[in-house]
Amino acid sequence: MTTPEFFKRFPDEASCIHHMRTLREENGLTCRACDSKRMSWLSTCNRWECMDCRAKTTIRSGTIMMHSKLPIHTWYTCMFLMTSTPKAVSAKDMQQRLGFKRYEPVWYMMQKIRQAMGKANESVVLSGEIELDNGYFTSHKEAKEGDHLFNCGRGNMRKAPVLVTVETRKGAKRSAAGRLRMTHLPNHEGATYSKLAQRLLNRNAVVHSDADPAFKSIEPHVQAHLPEKSAPKKASQALPWVHIAISNAKRMFLGIYHHLSAVWLQSYLDEFCFKFNGRRSRETSVFQLLNIVATCRLHPSG
Ligand SMILES: [Zn+2]
Repeated sequence: MTTPEFFKRFPDEASCIHHMRTLREENGLTCRACDSKRMSWLSTCNRWECMDCRAKTTIRSGTIMMHSKLPIHTWYTCMFLMTSTPKAVSAKDMQQRLGFKRYEPVWYMMQKIRQAMGKANESVVLSGEIELDNGYFTSHKEAKEGDHLFNCGRGNMRKAPVLVTVETRKGAKRSAAGRLRMTHLPNHEGATYSKLAQRLLNRNAVVHSDADPAFKSIEPHVQAHLPEKSAPKKASQALPWVHIAISNAKRMFLGIYHHLSAVWLQSYLDEFCFKFNGRRSRETSVFQLLNIVATCRLHPSG
């Protein structure tokens, strides 16, 4: 969808409310107070009323937009701008494009949108031939007492480990990449890899990795694991797509997020993977995202 097409489809607040209302009703609404499904729309105040207990449900209730005072049209525009380019957009840049005086609400909105992208990624379970390896992203962290793990002698900088898995189609003249998942690792324990393998990989997966013994714990969850020892300089030849994904992500983060915090690393990885996996259907990415916003209960209180 081009920018003029987007603004023709969503010219104002009313068009966005109508769209979000339709999406939420199509997916089935439930009253938060009594679980009734009998909800009626009150056009005078743009909310639903439960026909059983009279409780009201707003258009934002339970969604990423729930505690925001920004217009829904602003959220739609921000989602469109974030999904319509393969590059990342900084919050500062977004603030200028949206014409906001304050940076904080824009940063908060973008983090929430990344949260929705993370939800979309959760449904991506990789299958077939897969490359798997760890990447290390330089990030800042809050110094905690006794917290020396991962410190590499540069004050509060550390190398945050990220498990990178990508589908690959080998055998053809040139291998091609399929879908991608990236997960910030809390540690390098076997149990962590085992849990992630169950979440990220289909049982039919054939996994290519280097000979890191930690990767052995994924073996019960996949069809085959083919570790291959290679010299560090040749690692990018053995697992080309993993290394391309890592270097592209690092380059993108370096250019946009000058102070990459370990706390937010996963949300930036979620955005990168969402864009990577939607690269062949970028024109529909914004609708995929809007559908997630309408259907996923991102706030437990919602
Ligand atoms: Zn009710």
